[in-house]
Amino acid sequence: MIMERTAILRSLSCSSLASNRFLFRSFHRLSRSSLQPSSSSSAPRYLRRPIPALTRRSTLRHSSRLLPSASPSSSLSFNRKFSSLSTRAIATQPSPDAVGVHDEAAEKYGFEKVSEEFIGECKSKVVLFKHRKTGCEVMSVSNDDENKVFGIVFRTPPKDSTGIPHILEHSVLCGSRKYPLKEPFVELLKGSLHTFLNAFTYPDRTCYPVASTNTKDFYNLVDVYLDAVFFPKCIEDFQTFQQEGWHYELNDPSEDISYKGVVFNEMKGVYSQPDNILGRTAQQAMFPDNTYGVDSGGDPKVIPKLTFEEFKEFHRKYYHPSNARIWFYGDDDTIERLRILSEYLDMFDASPAPNESKIEPQKLFSEPVRIVERYPAGEGGDLKKKHMVCLNWLLSDKPLDLETELTLGFLDHLMLGTPASPLRKILLESGLGEAIVGGGIEDELLQPQFSIGLKGVSDDDIQKVEELIISTLKKLAEEGFEMEAVEASMNTIEFSLRENNTGSFPRGLSLMLRSVGKWIYDMDPFEPLKYEKPLMALKARIAEEGSKAVFSPLIEKFIVNNPHRVTIEMQPDPEKASRDEVAEKEILDTLKASMTEEDLAELARATQELRLKQETPDPPEALRSVPSLSLQDIPKEPIHVPIEVGDINGVKVLRHDLFTNDVLYTEIVFNMSPLKQELLPLVPLFCQSLLEMGTKDLTFVQLNQLIGRKTGGISVYPFTSSIRGRDDPCSHLIVRGKSMAGRAEDLFNLINCVLQEVQFTDQQRFKQFVSQSKARMENRLRGSGHGIAAARMDSKLNVAGWISEQMGGLSYLEFLLELEEKVDQDWAGISSSLEEIRRSLLSRNGCLINMTADGRNLTNTEKFISKFLDFLPSNSSVGTSSWTAQLPLSNEAIVIPTQVNYVGKAANLYDTGYDLKGSAYVISKYISNTWLWDRVRVSGGAYGGFCDFDTHSGVFSFLSYRDPNLLKTLDVYDGAGDFLRELDMDDDTLTKAIIGTIGDVDSYQLPDAKGYSSLLRYLLGITEEERQKRREEILSTSLKDFKEFADAIDAVKHKGVVVAVASPDDVDAANKERSNFFEVKKAL
Ligand SMILES: [Zn+2]
Repeated sequence: MIMERTAILRSLSCSSLASNRFLFRSFHRLSRSSLQPSSSSSAPRYLRRPIPALTRRSTLRHSSRLLPSASPSSSLSFNRKFSSLSTRAIATQPSPDAVGVHDEAAEKYGFEKVSEEFIGECKSKVVLFKHRKTGCEVMSVSNDDENKVFGIVFRTPPKDSTGIPHILEHSVLCGSRKYPLKEPFVELLKGSLHTFLNAFTYPDRTCYPVASTNTKDFYNLVDVYLDAVFFPKCIEDFQTFQQEGWHYELNDPSEDISYKGVVFNEMKGVYSQPDNILGRTAQQAMFPDNTYGVDSGGDPKVIPKLTFEEFKEFHRKYYHPSNARIWFYGDDDTIERLRILSEYLDMFDASPAPNESKIEPQKLFSEPVRIVERYPAGEGGDLKKKHMVCLNWLLSDKPLDLETELTLGFLDHLMLGTPASPLRKILLESGLGEAIVGGGIEDELLQPQFSIGLKGVSDDDIQKVEELIISTLKKLAEEGFEMEAVEASMNTIEFSLRENNTGSFPRGLSLMLRSVGKWIYDMDPFEPLKYEKPLMALKARIAEEGSKAVFSPLIEKFIVNNPHRVTIEMQPDPEKASRDEVAEKEILDTLKASMTEEDLAELARATQELRLKQETPDPPEALRSVPSLSLQDIPKEPIHVPIEVGDINGVKVLRHDLFTNDVLYTEIVFNMSPLKQELLPLVPLFCQSLLEMGTKDLTFVQLNQLIGRKTGGISVYPFTSSIRGRDDPCSHLIVRGKSMAGRAEDLFNLINCVLQEVQFTDQQRFKQFVSQSKARMENRLRGSGHGIAAARMDSKLNVAGWISEQMGGLSYLEFLLELEEKVDQDWAGISSSLEEIRRSLLSRNGCLINMTADGRNLTNTEKFISKFLDFLPSNSSVGTSSWTAQLPLSNEAIVIPTQVNYVGKAANLYDTGYDLKGSAYVISKYISNTWLWDRVRVSGGAYGGFCDFDTHSGVFSFLSYRDPNLLKTLDVYDGAGDFLRELDMDDDTLTKAIIGTIGDVDSYQLPDAKGYSSLLRYLLGITEEERQKRREEILSTSLKDFKEFADAIDAVKHKGVVVAVASPDDVDAANKERSNFFEVKKAL
């Protein structure tokens, strides 16, 4: 279970992914599998405050996460394993230059070279150094990737569930020796060009990575991080520990005492989510005897047992160079890397930490174990059908060799990688549950594991699920896999290796995590970077011996005949949330009763003092200590993406000539406006049906295997956005596909097959799609309630928002609940509605094709496009439906069983006369990073608070994330206007705000994402002139702009609509305090 620092502003996303597997899986799911563009930002970066992957825009507008992972490249645990392994780094191989010079310089800075190798898979020269004095190891990876990456990793195994490693991870970024301000981390978020900035807590290590394409910026980031980990202020500052970890809060001796703390609250959110509880319970039960048996993130019940002394001692012991591993990657100078490091490392002597932090392996059980756990559920729905069951195996009592791991990864893809994979398919088709839980093979920790199960299971079916899993695994071991399936997996894996598409994640970071995954256990850090040989060997073995001889023994040895099995059953408990709250309150009441009047007065004073400290701004000198670029370092022009607009057979074609390593990316865009309004909510299921129902001649399994064997994947999803200055929204269906350029003909043939030949006849499969979608939406409501709230507000404020909400918000969940009944009663009606969607959308009129590849490949592909278009019906009578609906402008509370809230407030600024200026990007980022960060997160205790300006629609929204407050947060939002009015800001701060905004605008994109962004700009009518103008406006933003914007956002205060996803108690209390402020809507 990885915890992340702050993810709030930039990668809110991952913060909700509490475990390892979920983190990596989802990240692949997003970036790769569903074939979303590799950038996290969904719309043109320029025009919208780019918030990361899982936040509202990308999830809702593109509905990416509503989509089934339909393409064969989906859910690749394999990807995780390998795609991280090769970098795109083009052509030039670093010459075996001055090797001797390196050695000498290394010696000078106190390092010895341990080993050195050129690794073809990542086209990099890799050198392992050891710092003589401390033993600190450094991997220095040199290539010509401009997206440079640095990371420092400590082995930090916890002994209990107080969350020490996680709290420390948060706290070290709160000021250090050279950077003595409250939160240098936030200053970096505000004012650097970073392409990645975050920190992760794993069950056994803590990792601090940064990335940037600008060398000066990169070294600034490195220095701040090094100073933070080695010389943090938090080890002398009790208040930081209180703020980030936990403390008692008492505003007035007459009130109740409560617990506060950023990590405390973050973990309360994590422990409200059934999937997270399941993952944690499984891990702890599988490793009862070593460090994985406790929660490094922190259990909210245990966190308050942590003392400041223990916290300091943990830092002293483990945050030491002898216990660190350091990674440098990219096109910067090796010697400079060592010079920077020596400044820090030379200050330390060797320590015994590496011995104390060793991870002991868990011995294998001789008997399986079974555990029953409860999770907080709402009272709504049929609780009987809300059980979860998951089987977990610890595969080995020691780490496995890489070849075995690779083969297991392959096996994982065969069993679970696509909807057509047998284990996944059989479980879902059994009708015993709604969706899959468990992540398959997991190899991020010392010993690999395998987990699989179902949720949405009826309590009398639990046993059946367990038996089905076991019998299916046995059957797979006995019968082996179809040849077509093996081929499809092989192609998918090889494709993803070759493409090496890490999405918005820097390639160097992906490589680092892979290497560290072994290095941290004192194994060879080079080995995980090399996949070519073992892959070829595996291929040869399969060819010679047959796939059965390769895979069956693995299934038998590691799974079927392995007694180290832990079965977790999770039962829904509608009283759990309130019971937990009562228990917490009792502890606090008892405490209060034991305190004297003086104690209480003292606590109130301390509470006040902490708040005062949190709300006092850093002095300008301290702020200036954080290095920053100057405006001169910033390019004056936006990043150019080549685009050529032409046509083929009367259909518009956009071509982007970019180096893609022989991969062809295409998007085929259909206009959605002819669609009848009432069919909109069916669109996501229509998309899934296209990819998972099969044709007259091909079963869906065969179709899926074909796609896997011949392409890099196909996905279909809706895209909706407002267009600035227009009333009607931009609403499209996008078909995304990729293949090696030589397979372009297959790709277009398969897309044609998917669009035109798939039959909507499989009622049972459709039923599964509905329950999977329902499960996914329920999960989002708990884990990403801010996204649901944002969508709901949007749907009250504009048509595009309304459409998106129909296909991915609460309305969609309501639609699914009704549809679930209807599938049995009126399947013929649904099936013909699906046909009607196809008829309405599939037309050459209004179709647009987008292509990204090298020029030669673009030209070669034209004939296949032409043929593809010939097959498309040209529907000249296509009308345009007018979608006028909007939800009523009332304040709503969506009540769910949770201990933390998501609070939103929004209004349309264009309606009140605001005209877009580039400064708006700078200002809204600034509000997020200062006013909201300080008030909603730091003193409010929420995990996050931010604002978002959708420059297409004009909707400005405030949102909070895992928030203990409700009405209080709304007051903070309302104060934003005055905050701007009273703002005083020196030039340095302003410059940082501008540079940070440019960093967002210019975020690093892989070629497919560049082509995709350019397509979206085209669809939304954003010209190069406009981009240039906005950039100039950003660069020339002044304090006056901030003050003027105050009036614009006061529209939110005065006319804004409020939507909260919140706990029943908090909503009741709010409605008592402000009489019936919220209209209450029960969900879950
Ligand atoms: Zn955290």
